[in-house]
Amino acid sequence: MSLKTPETETGILVAGAGAAGLSAAIALAQAGFSVVCVGHVEGRANGRTVALFEASLRFYKALGVWPRFRGKTAPLARITMIDATGARLPVPSVSFGASEIGLAAFGENIENNVLVEGLADIASATENLILHEGMIGDIHFGPDAIHATLADGHRVTAKLAAAADGRKSLLRTKAGIGTRSWTYPQIAFTSLLSHAKPHRNISTEFHTRSGPCTLVPLCAAPDRPNRSSLVWLMSAEEAQRRRELPQASLSQEIETQVDSLLGKIEVEGPGGFFPMAGMSANRLFGHRVVLIGEAAHIFPPLAAQGLNLSLRDSAALVEVLEDARALGQDIGSARTLKAYENARRSDIFLRTNGVDILNRSLLSDFFPVDFLRGAGLLAFSAIGPLRRALMREGVLTHGTLPRLMQERPLKRLAYRRA
Ligand SMILES: Cc1cc2nc3c(=O)[nH]c(=O)nc-3n(C[C@H](O)[C@H](O)[C@H](O)COP(=O)(O)OP(=O)(O)OC[C@H]3O[C@@H](n4cnc5c(N)ncnc54)[C@H](O)[C@@H]3O)c2cc1C
Repeated sequence: MSLKTPETETGILVAGAGAAGLSAAIALAQAGFSVVCVGHVEGRANGRTVALFEASLRFYKALGVWPRFRGKTAPLARITMIDATGARLPVPSVSFGASEIGLAAFGENIENNVLVEGLADIASATENLILHEGMIGDIHFGPDAIHATLADGHRVTAKLAAAADGRKSLLRTKAGIGTRSWTYPQIAFTSLLSHAKPHRNISTEFHTRSGPCTLVPLCAAPDRPNRSSLVWLMSAEEAQRRRELPQASLSQEIETQVDSLLGKIEVEGPGGFFPMAGMSANRLFGHRVVLIGEAAHIFPPLAAQGLNLSLRDSAALVEVLEDARALGQDIGSARTLKAYENARRSDIFLRTNGVDILNRSLLSDFFPVDFLRGAGLLAFSAIGPLRRALMREGVLTHGTLPRLMQERPLKRLAYRRA
């Protein structure tokens, strides 16, 4: 459903209709807030998938959206890391099984565009939620409300704006929230692959000197029983060279890189090339605005953390706003938004820095760095409690999960409409 009138008043404006914005909009609307979500729904396939871990699956199940994706995902029962850096000190290969922490799978892998399109369909049919295809052109932060002007001339007034408008977030800039940004000398090449041998629900990461080259299980297609997705970090020069290769040669290079682990490989359809960067917003809120998803944090796709972190932003935001409403507080007040920042700060800090250290340790061939990486992997592999703690951290996080991500979602607080 699109905006019907040129002027609309709502409780919360969600900027951006990527996976983070749509998920937040659905969760907020289901919690009884009136929501307008403005963005462009990107349904184009670009060989990119997202691995969603246990906490994210709980979130989608609690919202009742997961059945929509049945048959479109593949479970990740095991994650194997193989060192292919050629380090002077041999770094051991390690393998983690979900059953070791009592799970059937760490999570499920799904094509990004399939997820986004499915969420957009669900958002369109969600009560309290208007999904409007378009862009926000300008926003003004007034004392009691935000006023957004869309590129098509519509105007939206809300008590709070949730900025899920991605890495170049207009709302973040307009709110005067600074960032710390950096780049990596890497491009991520993504592609969907068909292959001869089954993946057996195992995701395999080859750690190379240009970054990881990762095979992630994907669901079967009618005439292609064995499929995986690929995320391969490489230098800009290699990315440019591979961009110009015929598909057969590219398929052959991938097969060689992964040591023919899955037999003969064939690249399916168009792939994607993504320059690698990092960004961390200095604050997670401004006057009547909060940041979620890539508007707040960006890092390379190692260990599949990005969207999982963003969904924890969404689930935490719902919880903080529900609590504020139950106490009769203003959902856009600095006090409420500070509670959101407090809930999210350490998780975001840990992921951003953890991924940064792991990525840089691969790029460096400085012996002590290799030694520390090898010793770290060995410790995590050999010491049972450490090993299980690492696995839990990867899929569930160390802190208390938001209510919507608890094993049995806690009873939600009664609400009055915001
Ligand atoms: C190669 C690769 C592999 C990845 N693999 C994984 C994985 O396995 N697991 C995982 O958890 N994460 C993964 N990630 C990260 C994950 O894909 C991202 O974190 C996630 O897609 C970000 O979603 P988002 O909604 O925050 O941002 P985006 O998807 O960028 O969405 C932002 C949206 O805002 C819109 N927008 C911008 N400006 C405006 C405006 N002015 N008005 C309205 N809308 C606006 C844009 O059009 C866009 O639709 C991967 C990332 C990459 C690059």
